[in-house]
Amino acid sequence: MSRNHEECLILLEQIRWNGKPKCPYCGSNNATRYKNEHRYHCNECFTSYSVTVGTLFHKTYFFGSVFCKQIFRQES
Ligand SMILES: [Zn+2]
Repeated sequence: MSRNHEECLILLEQIRWNGKPKCPYCGSNNATRYKNEHRYHCNECFTSYSVTVGTLFHKTYFFGSVFCKQIFRQES
């Protein structure tokens, strides 16, 4: 995972969840973050998920990287 991609995921988490992970399956905020990975384990429905679940980025990595490039271009 590239550094930019990781930063993009952090950014997405801020945008989508305001920094607080929310389970896309049951809506719970009760989650445990996996170490070294941008994935979370839901303590309510015991599903693992990442910020991209249910978004365009989940389906195509391509859109995710375009999104990242747009953001980093704006910031630089
Ligand atoms: Zn859940």
